Amino acid sequence: MCSKPVTRDPATRAGTVLEIDLGAVVANWRLLAAKTAPAACAAVVKANGYGLGAVPVARALLRAGCRKLFVATLDEGLALREALGAEPEIAVFNGPLPGSAADFAAARLTPVLNDPGQIAEWAAVAASDKPLPIVHIDTGMSRLGLSPAEFEQSLDRVAAIGASMLLSHLACAETPEHALNAAQRARFLAARQRLPALKASLAASSGIFLGREFHFELVRPGAALYGVNPRPGAANPMRPAVRLSAKIVQVRKIDRGESVGYGAAHIMDGPGLLATAAIGYADGWLRSLSHRGCGWLAGKRVPLLGRLSMDLATFDVSAVPPAELYPGNMIELIGDHYGVDAAAADAGTIGYEMLTALGARHHRVYREPPSDSKTAE
Ligand SMILES: *Cc1c(COP(=O)(O)O)cnc(C)c1O
Repeated sequence: MCSKPVTRDPATRAGTVLEIDLGAVVANWRLLAAKTAPAACAAVVKANGYGLGAVPVARALLRAGCRKLFVATLDEGLALREALGAEPEIAVFNGPLPGSAADFAAARLTPVLNDPGQIAEWAAVAASDKPLPIVHIDTGMSRLGLSPAEFEQSLDRVAAIGASMLLSHLACAETPEHALNAAQRARFLAARQRLPALKASLAASSGIFLGREFHFELVRPGAALYGVNPRPGAANPMRPAVRLSAKIVQVRKIDRGESVGYGAAHIMDGPGLLATAAIGYADGWLRSLSHRGCGWLAGKRVPLLGRLSMDLATFDVSAVPPAELYPGNMIELIGDHYGVDAAAADAGTIGYEMLTALGARHHRVYREPPSDSKTAE
């Protein structure tokens, strides 16, 4: 006989807690929308809203007045359409892969058409009220988009399929002085003059900060909504949107000369106190943080010692008051002291990867925007 399951508080049993501040995401969107008005401000929620949760993020932004969402793949678009209903405009950057154009039409997903083949696929779909597609032209990224020659040859086709917008993407927007920014803008303007009735969109998060002449009719921020600094090297104008904490599983004393973790890769140069916390690389706390990352506990920086394991990390807590060292107490890993960009730098990557790597194992807590507190649970 099975005994009746006991319902326990997930926050109590979880090893890690990921707090997502939807109020900060909304505030970030509002800041970008105000900065770029009268251009419209979309929200990029691909890769599950950069790891924060595409559905709760999209719902909060739609309530705040956002009218257009972008995802990367058809499956992301289908999932969002299912969750959000028929109304919001959802566009899919990668466009239709061969054979999938009809699925876009059926779910009323706006395809971004990235080459003549995708334009032909879309043109061949027989449906009465197809969404108006977006056409992507390459201006220097060499990733997706029609080349200038392909665009020139496709002008009639683009007009015939009722394209609503031309889109291009900047390769170096986080480096304002890079010459490619102006070059891409000039190529984009030239293409736009060939089809002046279409709207235009060039800037993502960092492109917004290059100035008004990059805004056109629509901007498409992603990372900045989630608190990643769109201007690396300058003060971050965005509000942090995530806080990640891991619970202490065990506290132990260690002597000088003893080793910590796999490969005995860290040797203590004096006696100390260690706290082993319930977070590892399987949680998206990247293994490249080994020997370099840190957490914060009771206002003290606690360095990560040795190699990160799959499910555990060991911190030097010798500087922390003993009253704070007990199983269940939380070590802050991403937060006010140590933001997404700082952790990413220590991991040898960018905030984008740090956020999108955040795994499925965290207990997630969503903080609703203040004005929506009546609808929050
Ligand atoms: C991901 C993406 C964006 C959003 O970029 P951020 O730098 O996160 O703001 C915008 N446009 C395209 C084409 C993208 O692929």
